[in-house]
Amino acid sequence: MGYGPTMRNGEVSYWWRALGGAPPRRPSLPGPAEADVCIVGGGYTGLWTAYYLKGLSPRSRVVVLEAAFAGYGASGRNGGWVTAELPGSRDRYARGPRGAVGVRDLEAALRDTVDEVGRVCAAESIRADFVKGGRMSVATSAAQLARLRAGLEHARAWGDGDDVYEFLSRDETRERINVAGALGGVYAPHSARVQPAALVAGLAAAAERRGVEIYEATPVTAIRVATGTAGGAIARTVFGDVRADSVLRCTEGFTAGLPGTRRALLPMNSSMVVTEPLPESAWKEIGWDGFETLGDEAHAYVYAQRTADGRIAIGGRGVPYRFGSAVDHRGTTSPATAVALGQILRRMFPAAASARIEHAWCGVLGVPRDWCASVSYDAASRLGWAGGYTGHGVAAANLAGRTLAELVLGESSPLTSLPWVGHHSRQWEPEPARWAGVHGLYALYRLADRLESSAGSPSRVVAGELLARAGDIVSGIPH
Ligand SMILES: Cc1cc2nc3c(=O)[nH]c(=O)nc-3n(C[C@H](O)[C@H](O)[C@H](O)COP(=O)(O)OP(=O)(O)OC[C@H]3O[C@@H](n4cnc5c(N)ncnc54)[C@H](O)[C@@H]3O)c2cc1C
Repeated sequence: MGYGPTMRNGEVSYWWRALGGAPPRRPSLPGPAEADVCIVGGGYTGLWTAYYLKGLSPRSRVVVLEAAFAGYGASGRNGGWVTAELPGSRDRYARGPRGAVGVRDLEAALRDTVDEVGRVCAAESIRADFVKGGRMSVATSAAQLARLRAGLEHARAWGDGDDVYEFLSRDETRERINVAGALGGVYAPHSARVQPAALVAGLAAAAERRGVEIYEATPVTAIRVATGTAGGAIARTVFGDVRADSVLRCTEGFTAGLPGTRRALLPMNSSMVVTEPLPESAWKEIGWDGFETLGDEAHAYVYAQRTADGRIAIGGRGVPYRFGSAVDHRGTTSPATAVALGQILRRMFPAAASARIEHAWCGVLGVPRDWCASVSYDAASRLGWAGGYTGHGVAAANLAGRTLAELVLGESSPLTSLPWVGHHSRQWEPEPARWAGVHGLYALYRLADRLESSAGSPSRVVAGELLARAGDIVSGIPH
């Protein structure tokens, strides 16, 4: 497998390059403005919120302010899993007033959301390669298999049947996707594959067709409650203030850049690589005809998809966190991370061993201190926000957007009573504890994975599980 000088690194992502590069820039905010709703951030969360707001209230003036361009963030760089996976912990959400029933409702709503994304893609002619092929989680070691079974048992205890998670034997797993060394898998039908940048570009255009105004190259420097009798809230930019009845923060992994929210969400880094198109002979060997999204059960897990143009795109954590919540420059990742992901890909798919890695990139996702996403709107201050999806944000951002739109308009519905609405997570620790904590966690995960993959010794497997568990407990990661 080659990397070499021809491998592109950054340029936001392969997904944008496949569309011909970053899109033509929309104008910046022309000057001070007034709006009914001002949304800060033009990723899936901000754009879905704007899209549904205009559907519910077509006469409202909805303005989106985006620091770079719509889809510059995680929404234009992700793995393209539109998954119904809960962006948080069942047990933690169940501590809310609606208990376990609320959690079941949230999970059902997320499953419906996968279809809702597909429905809007069809209705708005968004050509995002949406295929609802389900999700495969594959175990390639005894320890991973044990974890897979434990996860399935936990799901069964919550009432999930085969229609939600189905166990697959070694042969059934390999029949779908021939992952080398696969010992078994779990299939979840409620998941789709998309080309992420095509989705966000199409969504931005659909929102504009509904009358949403998107201003790019317009970073918001502060969000605050307006003073005076008119009320409302203000988003401050160098081009002037936008005064609006409501201001919504949809900045996910970039949230630390705004005053007042520096420790709200940790910008967790995730990197991806994509191969050149594989020959037909390789696809014959690999299978993957159902275009399932694919992940493994390692502690430092990977996620992958078969792209519509015949490549494998695979991602995982490289350098998980940069000191002081810093973010990457236009998606450039460390070459060592690209090499490591390439090695995992080659191990999983020997038939792709000679394929060149064509492009590597990275991005940031938002992680709250308790690893549980929230959708919040305060009718008194007129400020709202949604996010903290911990890497499961493609579908969740749609549900969050629909919910935030209803909250802003003062509506109550089954969506506005889901347990992530108003969920509160405490702040992250100040530096250097934050940096040390995340790097320590991933060092433990990598060590645990190494111990588990050096087959044969059960004590190593137990040690690996204990190490990873210790990391989870210290970091507050729920199970
Ligand atoms: C490499 C990678 C792989 C991933 N894979 C998956 C996956 O397969 N499935 C899944 O479900 N999730 C995945 N995720 C997570 C998912 O992509 C995100 O949860 C989702 O895109 C979040 O959307 P968002 O709109 O909230 O944030 P973003 O897409 O990050 O959008 C935030 C936007 O706000 C803008 N912004 C920030 N600050 C300001 C400011 N001050 N003023 C104006 N604008 C501002 C940014 O420029 C950005 O465009 C992945 C994430 C990464 C990084």
